Amino acid sequence: MTDLATGQCLCGAVKFRISGPFDSFFLCHCARCRKDSGSAHSANLFSSTAQITWLSGEEKRTQFQLAGSRHEKCFCSTCGSAMPFRQAHGGVLVVPAGSLDSAVKIQPNAHICYASRADWEDGLASLERFDGLPE
Ligand SMILES: [Zn+2]
Ligand SMILES: [Zn+2]
Repeated sequence: MTDLATGQCLCGAVKFRISGPFDSFFLCHCARCRKDSGSAHSANLFSSTAQITWLSGEEKRTQFQLAGSRHEKCFCSTCGSAMPFRQAHGGVLVVPAGSLDSAVKIQPNAHICYASRADWEDGLASLERFDGLPE
């Protein structure tokens, strides 16, 4: 059976389906990923064999490559949500885990570029957890 995954952006304009397995799943803490995600790290799935089909809104995707680097990002031009893209070098499919609506069947393989982590990152694992918003 083929692995299938589906996802969309926050505003719903861009929708996609992915068929095929993911090879790896990394949480990258580098300064570029922190900036482009606005958070502690990116959370990207990678696949060298999966195929992506754009179900709607493909023309709304904007792909950005940081000059002088291999750092790339793709996002919905209306809502800014991170969207899948193929790497310019090698064509590997990169899928932001948060863009998926279907269950992610693999667990992250590793935290990478951890030496570049935000100075507020240490100790996150021991933070109190609320199922919803705090009172
Ligand atoms: Zn959108
Ligand atoms: Zn990174």
